[in-house]
Amino acid sequence: MKIRCPMCARETTVPDDFQFRPFCSRRCKLADLGNWLDEAYTISTPLFPPDRPYDPEEPGGGLGVH
Ligand SMILES: [Zn+2]
Repeated sequence: MKIRCPMCARETTVPDDFQFRPFCSRRCKLADLGNWLDEAYTISTPLFPPDRPYDPEEPGGGLGVH
């Protein structure tokens, strides 16, 4: 199938089960993820407290109750 990579805007043809869709490559997928993480770190209240594992026993499922 033909895709247009949202990261580098390059049109390319990839297999239907291409693992990095909708990106053209692993590099673009990781770059997008990196951008997303950069944004997440700018939020004053982190979604997940650092260095703390997910705890299903905690109220709110460990996601934090606001
Ligand atoms: Zn790309």
